[in-house]
Amino acid sequence: MLEKLGVESLRLDLPFRLNHVHCFLAEGEHGWTVIDTGLHNKETVQQWDNQLAGKEVTNIYITHYHPDHFGYAGGLQQKTGATLSMTQNDEQAALKAWEDDFLNSLAENYSTAAIPKKIADEMIMNTKEFVPRVTPYPTVHHHFVEGEKVVIGHYEYEVIYTPGHSDGLINFFNDEKKVLFSTDHILPRITPNISYWFHGDPNPLATYLKSLKKVKTLDADLVIPSHGKPFHGANDRIDEIINHHDDRLQQTFELVSPNGSTVYDMCQKLFPKELTIHETRFAIGETISHMEYLRLKGELNRHSQKGQWVYMK
Ligand SMILES: [Zn+2]
Repeated sequence: MLEKLGVESLRLDLPFRLNHVHCFLAEGEHGWTVIDTGLHNKETVQQWDNQLAGKEVTNIYITHYHPDHFGYAGGLQQKTGATLSMTQNDEQAALKAWEDDFLNSLAENYSTAAIPKKIADEMIMNTKEFVPRVTPYPTVHHHFVEGEKVVIGHYEYEVIYTPGHSDGLINFFNDEKKVLFSTDHILPRITPNISYWFHGDPNPLATYLKSLKKVKTLDADLVIPSHGKPFHGANDRIDEIINHHDDRLQQTFELVSPNGSTVYDMCQKLFPKELTIHETRFAIGETISHMEYLRLKGELNRHSQKGQWVYMK
């Protein structure tokens, strides 16, 4: 499927439950374009070295700033001298998310969410552990803008802004072939994590649902995601994901206790399985994105009690 498009994929292992990410590469007129780079670790470097042996990389496209996509961007850029493109939003997010100012604000954010201190400390440590996985930072030469055309392999694609999973996430779409590089906007087996991060978008779930409806109008046939295998029929999967969030929002509303619930209370109810610390960070983010969605829609109220957010119906 990918060969016909003139695109190769590289599957990189990830040390998480979501155990892999697909990056892509395609030959252009003057050299190779790489789409996303994986986490910066030894295995990633080795795999790219093998994959790119004898190839000149001229462009690196980063779809969003999360470590499994952006992490090795700077390292690969240093090795290749490639021109790097990503959205301005996500460049700003990337340059902030692992810096002291932000790391130092996490303790207060987590206490707002009523996360017990021991767990919060471990979550902060977990975030800090990513610093070597996302550095050195790249030099961004170009900011992708909506509607811009890029060539990937045999075809030209339009840059489609699809914020939600991250504030500046983009997809690439070819209308003639109805091919969509969906990165983490639409995934086949799991629903993309939609997290509130105490910075950036105050209502990421609303933004995400809007981006899904936008992509639905494209009526993409072949969807090439960053996690999981390519599949046909974007719109069926979009409907499933929208339904999932409708169910989840209803569940969230019903689980809010009559005396009020903190974020941590709600997270435990919404994610009853045992989670690793890394997963807890995403579960908390996902919990808040649903609660804030309901609050901003007027269905929940929020007040502060001893510095903790308490949501009421
Ligand atoms: Zn990802």
